[in-house]
Amino acid sequence: MGSTVRLFLDHDLHQGQLVALSRDHAHYLFGVMRLGVGATVEIFNGRDGAWSATVVEAGKKKGALRCDVSTRPQQNPPDVWLMFAPIKKARTDFIVEKATEMGASRILPVQTDFTNSERIRQDRLQAHAIEAAEQCGGTYVPPVEDLQKLTSVLDGWPKDRHMMFCDEVAVGQGLDLPKAGEKWAILIGPEGGFSPKERDRLLSMDLAQAVSLGPRILRADTAVVAALTVWQQQNGDWA
Ligand code: SAH
Repeated sequence: MGSTVRLFLDHDLHQGQLVALSRDHAHYLFGVMRLGVGATVEIFNGRDGAWSATVVEAGKKKGALRCDVSTRPQQNPPDVWLMFAPIKKARTDFIVEKATEMGASRILPVQTDFTNSERIRQDRLQAHAIEAAEQCGGTYVPPVEDLQKLTSVLDGWPKDRHMMFCDEVAVGQGLDLPKAGEKWAILIGPEGGFSPKERDRLLSMDLAQAVSLGPRILRADTAVVAALTVWQQQNGDWA
């Protein structure tokens, strides 16, 4: 990535486009990173790929960039959602950061029977996803949804979306993911695992498949990274 500063902003991007900076971005570029007029940064908006841009105005609380040349095309991840039960704050932050780096298309925190946390800060988690995309050279930022009940998500489950249901109870059943379908979701449970009721319901879903991640019980944050690795290797955009 070199040392080029990368910024995600919600602004249309095309050649010659002037982009006004928010106060936070101006503070970051000119106060923290000490850039000035003429400096080059890379910007992306999640739709128009990445662009090299030049600082044309640098103030304490505002500033502007000019979009010069496209540096990489828009690259969206495969259509795989990550569903997970929020755990302690630092580990939840880690999950969102790693899921973004690993190429999840959408992040859904779900409240399960044994979920330890009742609340999340959706805005903070979304900011973590943005930071991770800036840092990893991506052009896509997965939307992070607000906390929903797992039962409600399953009630409205799309008819065409497969689910890789990661369950330590599936150990010994091997790892055999069908290469079926384009649309997927990965489900990781909380520290206490899934309740028998949840497990019964998930196992009864035609589109859900229980998958083992090996003979050791992984922490939820480790399981997220392992599951996305396995899925990407089999179905994803790593080829
Ligand atoms: N119920 C367990 C801990 C759950 S670990 C206990 O208390 O003993 C948290 C989540 O990580 C699980 O719900 C599951 O989704 C995933 N996970 C951890 N280890 C796993 C494994 N070996 N195989 C599949 N999923 C695993």
